[in-house]
Amino acid sequence: MVNFAAMRRYDDSYKQKGLRKQLVDTLRQKGITDENVLAAINNIPRHYFLDTAFEGIAYEDRAFPIGEGQTISQPYTVAYQTQLLEVKPFEKVLEIGTGSAYQACVLGELKANLFTIERQKKLFDQVKQFPFKSRYPTIRFFYGDGYEGLPTFAPFDKVLITAAAPQTPPKLLQQMKIGGKMVVPVGGSEIQRMIRITKTGDNDYEQETFDNFSFVPMLSGKRS
Ligand code: SAH
Repeated sequence: MVNFAAMRRYDDSYKQKGLRKQLVDTLRQKGITDENVLAAINNIPRHYFLDTAFEGIAYEDRAFPIGEGQTISQPYTVAYQTQLLEVKPFEKVLEIGTGSAYQACVLGELKANLFTIERQKKLFDQVKQFPFKSRYPTIRFFYGDGYEGLPTFAPFDKVLITAAAPQTPPKLLQQMKIGGKMVVPVGGSEIQRMIRITKTGDNDYEQETFDNFSFVPMLSGKRS
């Protein structure tokens, strides 16, 4: 049977494409300069990742709830983190906090060889049903605790954490290649500082600090 509701949901209209262009202009005005990141955001129908109730406002530069008390990040935040990550095609990237998979698809547009982990089973299952996913064959989805990383697939060129970490997770630092970079919001529950860490030797790291953001917390353990 044809599911008309679903068909409407995955319809990308001229209006939505136009709103998306405006969103890209807004991100440019806010200081995003990486044209590959802006093109990725322009290519991805963000309304696919949201409950239909938010469809009309999907292209506002805001975070929205995605269930289980979690949020899809604000597009500016997604663009900011992705720009700092400096992803090159076919690099091995580890993302912590799949959530809606919007950020994962941005990395997919940049042709990252992406491994993304989500600790909440319901969100993990939700994303598995997502038809848009077939467009990004280089993304692999995992249910687990991001604090553990994915030792089997390590080392990674890049690590992106999309939840607020109280400090940089030591196991994830170990799973980086030398020369690799990690982008992570570090701090308490209210506000965090965006940090970029470059691994310069087996146990040597350089740290750069950027703007303040507010993320949902990175929690330990899986949740069924
Ligand atoms: N990148 C997401 C936004 C995620 S919000 C998007 O584009 O939609 C942060 C996500 O991190 C939530 O889904 C939360 O469940 C998940 N999370 C928090 N702690 C985690 C952990 N230890 N391991 C894996 N995922 C975690």
